[in-house]
Amino acid sequence: GAAWEQDVRRSATPSRADGLSVLVTGAAGFVGTHCSVALKRRGDGVVGVDNFNAYYDPALKRSRQALVARRGVLVLDADINDGALLAKLFDVVPFSHVLHLAAQAGVRYATRNPQSYVASNVAGLVSLFETAAKHADPQPSIVWASSSSVYGLNTEAPFSELHRTDRPASLYAATKKAGEAIAHTYNHIYGLSITGLRFFTVYGPWGRPDMAYFSFTKSILSGKPITLFRMTDGTAVQRDFTFIDDVVKGCLGALDTAKKSTGVAGGGKKRGPAQLRIYNLGNTSPVPVAKMVSILEELLRKKAKKNVVTLPQNGDVPFTHANVSLAERDFGYRPTTDLATGLKKFVKWYVEYYGAETTKRINRKRKIAGDEVE
Ligand code: NAD
Repeated sequence: GAAWEQDVRRSATPSRADGLSVLVTGAAGFVGTHCSVALKRRGDGVVGVDNFNAYYDPALKRSRQALVARRGVLVLDADINDGALLAKLFDVVPFSHVLHLAAQAGVRYATRNPQSYVASNVAGLVSLFETAAKHADPQPSIVWASSSSVYGLNTEAPFSELHRTDRPASLYAATKKAGEAIAHTYNHIYGLSITGLRFFTVYGPWGRPDMAYFSFTKSILSGKPITLFRMTDGTAVQRDFTFIDDVVKGCLGALDTAKKSTGVAGGGKKRGPAQLRIYNLGNTSPVPVAKMVSILEELLRKKAKKNVVTLPQNGDVPFTHANVSLAERDFGYRPTTDLATGLKKFVKWYVEYYGAETTKRINRKRKIAGDEVE
């Protein structure tokens, strides 16, 4: 109804003269939360959508939604496959940009639920591009999350955007690679301005519980064993861990430099070329996962119980390492946070959040039991 539209318009209205108006998908996700807050803080208008699925703790997603709501960002419960809803949003607000982060993330879950990757990362992406190309006037510029996983079994390092991406090691990687091909098509046919960002293992406060740094923290604190993988030749698995604040700067930079779409509403013929751009957003310094664990042990002042096993064919790749010179050239991207500094910020958040959550839960139980709550 009209009240819904008013809320959407209010949230989407920039507070500075040349502010962007951004639709953020996956806005209750890890990266989406941080980007929504950062955009709003610098005066852009933001409306979010998220389907709050149960891939990991929906309560954490609701907490993030409450966090961005306190800063004036509305996040609607909606699925990106709902084209009618997306079309309605584009009717209500002439978004200048879409930051598309909604996806089925995670590599190993693909062996258990392959269809969820196809639904969100392929069908969902098409749904978003279709609506943006045919039902939005003006057509928004789209920045969306691809992944370093597209490099798959690439062994040339550091990874540059021109390296091979034809050997994905997981269905997750395959759907991200498919997304890049689909983006190319929508750019080519409809003149949609599309920028793909290949994130490299993003970590930080409000992070994802399914990722190793997060679940290891939980296990170390509760004395449960963790599993570390090494390669079949004995070498350690390495990741180019990238701190969330650096990734946020990259996302905002990419939005700011995104070219205007050249297509016309209705999906009409384009008036000129709008380039498809793909950028690495990494940290440029890979760290062995075992080193990440020793940093956590120091921060938590507790030793991890470790099981070391040889890497099974579970979709993990041996190492990732970004060359970010393209993103630096085009929008000044420069990661500045090393792993020890970033993990310190994560651990501080973890202890505060789960400390407070635990206290709240106990208090709720007490209330239900009729006890006094301080
Ligand atoms: P996340 O899971 O925290 O965020 C994704 C959000 O999208 C979730 O809140 C989820 O509920 C929502 N979502 C999923 N499917 C949806 C659908 N069909 N409709 C509406 N909402 C849906 O993940 P994240 O770490 O914030 O990742 C953001 C993006 O970056 C994803 O595209 C992910 O694949 C990509 N990425 C992340 C990393 C990383 O290390 N975090 C690395 C490479 C790429």
